[in-house]
Amino acid sequence: MSGGLKRGARALLELIYPIRAECMGCGSKAGFERDWLCEDCRQALANRWVGAATPPEGGLIDGAAYGYFYGGPAGGLVRNLKYRGVSRLAEPMGRQMVRAFEGLQPAQIDCVVPVPMHIRRTRRRGVNHALLLAKAVADGLGLPLEEALVRTRNTRQQARLNDAERLHNLDGAFAVAGGVAGKRVLLVDDVCTTGATANACAKALLENGASTVLLVCFCLAHKF
Ligand SMILES: [Zn+2]
Repeated sequence: MSGGLKRGARALLELIYPIRAECMGCGSKAGFERDWLCEDCRQALANRWVGAATPPEGGLIDGAAYGYFYGGPAGGLVRNLKYRGVSRLAEPMGRQMVRAFEGLQPAQIDCVVPVPMHIRRTRRRGVNHALLLAKAVADGLGLPLEEALVRTRNTRQQARLNDAERLHNLDGAFAVAGGVAGKRVLLVDDVCTTGATANACAKALLENGASTVLLVCFCLAHKF
């Protein structure tokens, strides 16, 4: 087979079987046996564990839990899920989010709601990572998943803005599409950086009658 054909065949195989024989934390192929992380990353990830922690400032979120501090293998996992579309990672990542959430007391909730992504961004990436994580969390907790929030406009990524821009970037960016009145909602996202996104979502949920909003994210990008 020629080099071009080989490459084509490999690309086709990747499409059909999007399982890569490499560590999803560091990309290492050497001695890789496990289904998502090499032994070094498994250990490094365990050392980054957060669990139940302070919710983002703003007083809108009653409790929060995070899987891991961002960076190292935790960052690798998020990037593989988000930008490379390795959707099978959502299930093991969701399992760790459930574990983090279980450390939160009291943690009674009625439904799980993903932070929504704008339709155009979902189309471009082909995977809605927060929705996949929320599904895994809802399954793990045995609770209904409600896609109750919609993004009404395509906001710029918070991480790329300065403080002044961040403050207003999310104004009116979220609306409530499903019934959340009287419900205790668990909001799910991949990474919490400033908490601005989670707060904007919580504001929309509370204004539409949600009784409580809790938050669980796979990663915490800074210490509160
Ligand atoms: Zn690794």
